[in-house]
Amino acid sequence: SGDARVAGIASSIRVIPDFPKPGIMFQDITTLLLDPKAFRDTIDLFVERYKDQGITVVAGVEARGFIFGPPIALAIGAKFVPLRKPKKLPGEVISEEYSLEYGTDKIEMHVGAVEDNDRALVVDDLIATGGTLCAAVNLLERVGAKVVECACVIELPELKGRDKLGDRPVFVLVKAD
Ligand code: AMP
Repeated sequence: SGDARVAGIASSIRVIPDFPKPGIMFQDITTLLLDPKAFRDTIDLFVERYKDQGITVVAGVEARGFIFGPPIALAIGAKFVPLRKPKKLPGEVISEEYSLEYGTDKIEMHVGAVEDNDRALVVDDLIATGGTLCAAVNLLERVGAKVVECACVIELPELKGRDKLGDRPVFVLVKAD
């Protein structure tokens, strides 16, 4: 069942206190990747949810969206588009800036990779404040795509990242606190 698989996934995620700085409980998905059943179940649960939703593009957020996004894209027959940190993509890009606790960051997407008739799924490993996913959604919507949903393995619900996404749905497998 879904719940038994989710419990296995949750227990495969390692939590490292005070990384990368004091007070942060870092949710480490590299231990999930070491467990082939947990990794397989993670991809299967997303594929079961998205296979019949007419999704044409899976957009993965650098870096851990590049781990979970491509197997989902292949399984549902969608293209994969990387949303990258600045100055990594060689072609023409559009970029979206977003604010961090201190300062700002930016993600970029190749022009022409996503079109106005595309139906998009945005994938990352974790939603915290929602700033990263919000920037990703904005990039896709700026080129006219319909964002069907955002999918993450983990949510930190206390940070209320969902609120930032407005009416765009966010689906997560594991809620951490
Ligand atoms: P946010 O933009 O605040 O929703 O942060 C989400 C991004 O930061 C994701 O790409 C996560 O990989 C990373 N991140 C934020 N907080 C954590 C955490 N506690 N553990 C692991 N990754 C995190």
